[in-house]
Amino acid sequence: MRNVIIIGSGCAGNTAAIYAARANLKPLVVAGHEPGGQLSITTLVENFPGFPEGIDGPDLVDNMKKQAETFGAEYVHGTVTEADLSKRPFRLNIDGEWQESLTLIIASGASARWLGLPSEQKLIGHGVSSCATCDGAFYRDRKVMVIGGGDTAMEEANFLTRFASEVTLVHRRDQFRASKVMLDRARANPKIKFLHNTVVDEVHDASKNEVTGVRLRQADPEKVWDQEVHGFFVAIGHIPNTKPFTGQIDLDRDGYIVSHGGAQTNIKGVFHAGDVQDRAYRQAITAAGAGCMAAIEAERFLEAEGH
Ligand SMILES: Cc1cc2nc3c(=O)[nH]c(=O)nc-3n(C[C@H](O)[C@H](O)[C@H](O)COP(=O)(O)OP(=O)(O)OC[C@H]3O[C@@H](n4cnc5c(N)ncnc54)[C@H](O)[C@@H]3O)c2cc1C
Repeated sequence: MRNVIIIGSGCAGNTAAIYAARANLKPLVVAGHEPGGQLSITTLVENFPGFPEGIDGPDLVDNMKKQAETFGAEYVHGTVTEADLSKRPFRLNIDGEWQESLTLIIASGASARWLGLPSEQKLIGHGVSSCATCDGAFYRDRKVMVIGGGDTAMEEANFLTRFASEVTLVHRRDQFRASKVMLDRARANPKIKFLHNTVVDEVHDASKNEVTGVRLRQADPEKVWDQEVHGFFVAIGHIPNTKPFTGQIDLDRDGYIVSHGGAQTNIKGVFHAGDVQDRAYRQAITAAGAGCMAAIEAERFLEAEGH
């Protein structure tokens, strides 16, 4: 029986682990399919406080993990596939083995949706990004492309015009899902060029480990061409990793955890941390802050229950 099991080993889970371990709760962290979380697939992180020269994403999350282990946190490889939150202790199925815990911290993140092209996957963190706030500043006076047709794509495109010389917004349909106000703002921005009814066939150049351009295609009339870009931003949404908790934890229509104040979910003793609940900020520092909140709340909950 555990005091606390933390589901996820990104910034939120690792920070929760540091706090819970220092509170002597001996937390178990389930690392999941992506140990270290989203920062493990990026390169330089320039906006995490405390690193004036920046720090590589994998180093940052690895340091957090080491810090948590120093205080007694335990990490296991594996994924939570099923959860029984109907009574306490809560039960989690971790790759076939059930574990019990008095409290849970769900820090399972929200994975970016990608186009799924092999060239795109190879270049994530090397010019391919899902986060303009994180990576926009690397493209000062350079050409970038944003993929998507919703509000996020418009917001990312507008934001990127602060740095980039030109932003091409590519959408596979001719109608946009974005709200009128966001679309109008993007259309009024002279740096943003729109390409409708256009799909991406390939991101160049995986062999050089950097983005140099994109192969685009339109169907009617058939046209295929290459366009030079240096940054490629995919803004087609995120998928919160909440499947094992569906039907038990309150989720919004897109699957994000609905907060019941602070780090609380609708179930007492189950706390949320990071991108799995946060559709607004999605940053390493906000996820870390949320992990701290969740661990403090878990500790106070256990204390109040006399554990
Ligand atoms: C390419 C890229 C670059 C970025 N650059 C920056 C940047 O420069 N600065 C910045 O502030 N932010 C950046 N971000 C955003 C930042 O990475 C996220 O906001 C942050 O990682 C969120 O942390 P998290 O712990 O909430 O979730 P995540 O990092 O997504 O971690 C989720 C964790 O949950 C685990 N998990 C998921 N499902 C399960 C399950 N069923 N069972 C067990 N474990 C599970 C995963 O394995 C993972 O360890 C970037 C994101 C990307 C994709």
